[in-house]
Amino acid sequence: MKGTLRLLNVRKGDTVIVLSGKDKGNKGKVMRTIPTAGKVLVEGINMVSKSLRPTQTMPQGKIAKREAPILASKVMLICPSCHQPTRVAHRLIEGNKSVRSCRVCNETIDRV
Ligand SMILES: [Zn+2]
Repeated sequence: MKGTLRLLNVRKGDTVIVLSGKDKGNKGKVMRTIPTAGKVLVEGINMVSKSLRPTQTMPQGKIAKREAPILASKVMLICPSCHQPTRVAHRLIEGNKSVRSCRVCNETIDRV
């Protein structure tokens, strides 16, 4: 954790629940992870308004809502097996592959 890439506990495609902030308790699917910032982009979470400049097809311009990245530490993975919010355990298999497993039900989360 010293200025290097942080290993995020969530990955693209995961379903997560928000732990704090205005979207607390909401769930969404991870669309993108930004490991260098320790952030994730979650579908429907942390929506911000962004005004778009007028274009030929939209002469008035418009206000668009879109997701802004939130800190990965503010979300918790929802286990696809037991559907509980969980911390993940990293487990090495076959000596060198790291897979995640659920601390609630112990099921492996990542398909290998
Ligand atoms: Zn589980």
